[in-house]
Amino acid sequence: MEKTLFQKICDREIPATIVYEDDLCVSFKDISPGAPAHLLLVPRKPIPRIAAATAEDQSLLGHLLLTAPKIAREQGFADDGFRLVINCGKNGGETVPHLHVHILGGRQMEWPPG
Ligand code: 5GP
Repeated sequence: MEKTLFQKICDREIPATIVYEDDLCVSFKDISPGAPAHLLLVPRKPIPRIAAATAEDQSLLGHLLLTAPKIAREQGFADDGFRLVINCGKNGGETVPHLHVHILGGRQMEWPPG
């Protein structure tokens, strides 16, 4: 199976500014930031999207959700708040078919999102 773009970033085959990694996930700066702080957090396991996750992924998904705020704190933009986004499928605005959590901060977010 061909590696996904984000697997190649995790494996350092494609350059990215990696800010965090552990055995299960990697976080790096989004190449086209939508906020002063815009990180992506991806599992090393190439789950295509949140709708493709299974019960087997339960602890991994929990790990992602617990790790995202930790990264925001470590990167210094947690105090004023931040937003986590997971786009799923066409209408969700997904463009890379490897599950990723957007971690956005550094400005006031708006609601509803576009
Ligand atoms: P999606 O639209 O699938 O939710 O988010 C994909 C994100 O990946 C976008 O915000 C896009 O800017 C980012 N992205 C796409 N290609 C690359 C890349 O090669 N490197 C990095 N660092 N981010 C990327």
